[in-house]
Amino acid sequence: MPGSEGPPQIPTDIYLAAIADAAEDAIIGESLDGTILRWNRAAERIFGYQADAVIGRPGSILVPPDRHSEEAALLDTVRQGQRVEEPEAERVRQDGTRLDVSVVALPLQDAAGRTLGVLKLIRDLAGRKRVSNLEAMVAERTAHLQQTIAELEGVSYSLSHDLRAPLRTIQGFSQIVLADAGDKLGDQEKELLKRTISAANRLDRLIQDVLSYTRVSRLSVALTTVEVEPLLRQIIDERPELQPPSADIVIQGPLAPVCGHEASLTQCITNLLDNAVKFVAAGQQPRIRIWNELDGNQVRLWFADNGIGIPKIAQARLFGIFQRVHDDKTYPGTGIGLAIVRKAVERMGGSVHVESEPGEGSRFCVQLPLGPRA
Ligand code: ADP
Repeated sequence: MPGSEGPPQIPTDIYLAAIADAAEDAIIGESLDGTILRWNRAAERIFGYQADAVIGRPGSILVPPDRHSEEAALLDTVRQGQRVEEPEAERVRQDGTRLDVSVVALPLQDAAGRTLGVLKLIRDLAGRKRVSNLEAMVAERTAHLQQTIAELEGVSYSLSHDLRAPLRTIQGFSQIVLADAGDKLGDQEKELLKRTISAANRLDRLIQDVLSYTRVSRLSVALTTVEVEPLLRQIIDERPELQPPSADIVIQGPLAPVCGHEASLTQCITNLLDNAVKFVAAGQQPRIRIWNELDGNQVRLWFADNGIGIPKIAQARLFGIFQRVHDDKTYPGTGIGLAIVRKAVERMGGSVHVESEPGEGSRFCVQLPLGPRA
């Protein structure tokens, strides 16, 4: 602007002093013979010397005695106008302890290119080492935990598997006794046998669900493109309880393909639809609407039902194993279905959540990466 004096200036010496004081690294100015002339706050912190205890002393007091010749060579190079970098060097603190540092040394030159002194930037690497040691420790513990989880899953898988054989004996023999010897039994004995069979059936269901859960956890899921719409239609076609008049399911297509694992996705969809037709008020026809939303490279697949809904407070825990909200007698189940859904979806790199109000139905959302289109 004509007549303007320009913005106010910050004097260079004040500016440079502030930079030197704020720096995290030691900034040391030395004369050409290696005498310390400048010493910033970080140098005090890193080396332990106050400025007045080092200014005027040789820079070599910071170098371990066995490295003095290297330091002399460094000074020589800088005196000749060249910059030197030592990414891994050692220095000594005032109390004699050694420090791992990186050093950059540069010539301080005037306008004519004459070297007047040496500037050294020294970075304490210990902080960084601590971080990388911590990272290594976390990685090791995570690997250990993953191994323990895999072992536990293996144990629960074989346990569940082995539990089914004796259980089938209990179911089978009780049924035979009831059928063949029923007329010799009193009403009370028959009732006890019936309860035994029903308890055994329930235990069998539970074991099968635990087995499905551990199978989902152990299965290796190779991700491919899965066409969601035909998969949904196939699941509905195979199950009368998902068809009119039992239920009314509307697919609002077109639905985008996802990147997933077909068997896992089949299990997720089946579990969600089974719940959607199960948790409805007595006498009401289940109505379910399915649609998708695209968000960048993510597909959100929604399942909305007209069921009894879920209180807010219970929504987050439903995806945990054995979590049930509604009364057992009206709505029997094992509380594993949604845990399977979450595990399977996470293994496919996705997530699942629910939105619901009691009496207003529920909307479950499965989010997965969009599958590449053909
Ligand atoms: P299960 O169906 O065997 O009880 P899930 O893990 O599939 O187990 O579901 C856990 C609980 O979440 C159910 O017991 C029920 O209380 C609630 N729930 C799941 N889906 C729905 C739904 N669509 N509507 C209302 N409640 C639901």
